[in-house]
Amino acid sequence: MRTPEDRETHSLKPAARWSATYTRLRDAIFAHRLVPGTKLPEDELASIYAVSRTVIRSALQALAHDRLVRLEPNRGAFVAQPSQTEAREIFEMRMLVEPRAASLAAERATPADVARLRAHLDEEDNALREGRDSDALMLSANFHVEVSQIASQGVLCEVIADLVTRSSLIIALYWVRRDTICASHAHHPLVDAIAGHQSDVAAELMTGHLADLLTGLDLTLRQSGEMSLSDILLQDV
Ligand SMILES: [Zn+2]
Repeated sequence: MRTPEDRETHSLKPAARWSATYTRLRDAIFAHRLVPGTKLPEDELASIYAVSRTVIRSALQALAHDRLVRLEPNRGAFVAQPSQTEAREIFEMRMLVEPRAASLAAERATPADVARLRAHLDEEDNALREGRDSDALMLSANFHVEVSQIASQGVLCEVIADLVTRSSLIIALYWVRRDTICASHAHHPLVDAIAGHQSDVAAELMTGHLADLLTGLDLTLRQSGEMSLSDILLQDV
């Protein structure tokens, strides 16, 4: 009998194997095909993707690090299920700390920082234009982390990175205006304000952008369907 290991694509290095699986699962979560709370059994995933359980375990750990998956001792892995309250609280926290980061970034940005932000916006725009929704979502989240890094305050940066990570799944789950995912139309003026060292304008734009994101969320829980894991995941294999 063939084991999943036999069917692995041996041309790929181990890290590439788990990252391909990570991307497929992440895309399925972001596209709402895998709904919150779905159990993700290692053996079933290994069979679906024709990779070893070790590969699946690495992918699940990376997804857990990104807060997209919850690992429970003795129970296994589940798609994370942020509550409506948690979702609202995370955005309220972001509205408290991110305008401060934007303001500091505007005070401190060097030409190299601005060039890096503009290159990031190009990547975001490309992902959106090419219909790579989940890449666009991750890139737009990382934009916020990059702004906080320019602010150069370690603790502020850590707090924002954590809040942004926790926001990605919330946006993917609850965002109802998907055509304007963390839209670059909001990021471009923000970069202009940072480039022009207009700290008050940068803070205001960040406040408005986050308020806009929050009002674009429909915090009612989606119901799970009746499809099997392999029916859901084999759609994109
Ligand atoms: Zn944004």
